[in-house]
Amino acid sequence: MESAVLESKKSTIKSINPFDNSLNKEYEVMSKEEIDQRIGLADEAFKTWRRTPFAQRASLLHKVAGILRERKEDLGKLATQEMGKRLSESIAEVELSANIFDYYADNGEKFLADAPLETPIGKAFLSYEPLGVLLSVQPWNFPFYQITRSAAPNIMAGNTVVLKHASIVPQCAAIMEEIFLEAGAPKGVYQNLFLPGSQVEDIVSDERIKAVSLTGSEPAGASIASAAGKNIKKSTLELGGSDAFIVLNDANIDDAVKAAVYSRMWNAGQVCTSNKRIIVEESIADEFLEKVKAIFPTLKVGNPLEAETDVAPLSSEKAAQDVVKQIEKAVEEGAQLVFGGHRVDRPGAFVEPTLLTGIKKGNSAYSDEIFGPVFMFYVVKDENEAIELANDTSFGLGGSIFSSNEERAINVARQIDTGMVYINHLTGITPELPFGGTKKSGYGREQSPAGIYEFVNAKLIRVTSVDNPY
Ligand code: NAP
Repeated sequence: MESAVLESKKSTIKSINPFDNSLNKEYEVMSKEEIDQRIGLADEAFKTWRRTPFAQRASLLHKVAGILRERKEDLGKLATQEMGKRLSESIAEVELSANIFDYYADNGEKFLADAPLETPIGKAFLSYEPLGVLLSVQPWNFPFYQITRSAAPNIMAGNTVVLKHASIVPQCAAIMEEIFLEAGAPKGVYQNLFLPGSQVEDIVSDERIKAVSLTGSEPAGASIASAAGKNIKKSTLELGGSDAFIVLNDANIDDAVKAAVYSRMWNAGQVCTSNKRIIVEESIADEFLEKVKAIFPTLKVGNPLEAETDVAPLSSEKAAQDVVKQIEKAVEEGAQLVFGGHRVDRPGAFVEPTLLTGIKKGNSAYSDEIFGPVFMFYVVKDENEAIELANDTSFGLGGSIFSSNEERAINVARQIDTGMVYINHLTGITPELPFGGTKKSGYGREQSPAGIYEFVNAKLIRVTSVDNPY
């Protein structure tokens, strides 16, 4: 099949401000013809972009980074008004995205230099070559950073990118395309596709799409991975998580409490690596919980544009309804509701910061990811029980361990089945460190040197000397 099979539909994609559920803007879903034309443009652009010198590719990425920094306030505000997160978090996200563009601009050529291989049979090396058009499917929770994680390394590597962003953040999607064009990107190197998630499988099977990268939920991951598999295409999946936040009995309790509460409230709990399960050793559990309970009433729920707000609205009315349903189900199934648990009595997609204890195996909250401000507190007898509980999940994304004994913490970290473990810190994000998971959290890595090798062909070139044939 040469082009994507899509039904032409006159439906729209709406940007709604979750602070008050008002409509920001509406976009038409792209027609089959427009999507086909955009993929064609990306395919055509690849022919030139793959031969464009690294220095020129780097210059484009630096320009994109510069524009992001220059406009971080406006872009931050746009993200906040589109998906609800606190303004300071949105601005920090734009800065992080700029840093990732700079990181690959500065290091991409070095990462993709020919890699000599030792062999007794002559000269051999790996030549890293781009694959073609990458389909990048991204979620709304970090509307700029998520786009950046796949765009920066791949555009540096010589691939071209078509982005299918989450339907609730079309303004962020559109402005990123404008930024690329303003930075001087040749037509077709980076483009946006406005279409619903239900139509993505068809795009994956388009012959001009050479690879696909998804960050999102398990169902979307299963759908994309099967479409990619059926069409023999490389894919990466960054999916959900249920990260453990383990507090060992030798931890600094005050530091651990603060980190646990505020990182769980980050982005109103809608972070894949949020500390969704807080697991504390028995001997310090009472003190830890009392300190958590003292912070909860002080958390200010409110306008994400105001600096004093601690807890922002969720990304949409549906997200807020879903989280409250999950809390109610957890309580019906035996969990104790210590704080919160309801919608906040005001307009907008707000959910009270919630504290649940007494969650037992078999409770849906024990196994499901809750993408909201829900602090789930577990007590364990000792370190071994903490490891067992941390690993008793289908997810394997990140995790944290708090301890004043580095050697002990590293030993525990080695036994946690996830892609990342941070000691005395929440699972963080920085351009030079890899990001990704294992188990149902997906496969592949973004950021760091690893991120640029996902969608290149590591081609072997072996030279047999004519003077000395083997
Ligand atoms: P989602 O529904 O899977 O949406 C993510 C993206 O996939 C959107 O662009 C969506 O488009 C698209 N999509 C939806 N259904 C699809 C399908 N059947 N086939 C192909 N694409 C499809 O995820 P979400 O609920 O918005 O985001 C939250 C999830 O993402 C959580 O599980 C979270 O943990 C995970 N996440 C993971 C990471 C990570 O790095 N591991 C980072 C952030 C978030 P539409 O918007 O048009 O539906």
